[in-house]
Amino acid sequence: MSQTDLSRRQVFKMAGALAAIPVLAVCGSAHAATNAAMRNALKYQDTPNGDKHCASCIQFVPGAKPTDKGGCNAIPGDTEISPNGFCGAWVQKK
Ligand code: SF4
Repeated sequence: MSQTDLSRRQVFKMAGALAAIPVLAVCGSAHAATNAAMRNALKYQDTPNGDKHCASCIQFVPGAKPTDKGGCNAIPGDTEISPNGFCGAWVQKK
């Protein structure tokens, strides 16, 4: 392997890495994501438990509007948490 071959490989590697960045950025913002493992672990449901629901939970990260789905600090990477949902980690927001 010559020095030139190594340089070409490094250039192609860097170009590939740089090309992937916009795709990941677009995918990250354009697509909803769920964290099935954490949902299952916490027994998440899309419906409230009596008067307990995600919108009244300290862990909830609201969406743009009060009725929009949002995130949850206890379920990382999940953008599909319903404000009317509930799970075993619910804690009353003060
Ligand atoms: S911890 Fe559970 S109840 Fe609280 S916001 Fe997250 S998913 Fe909803």
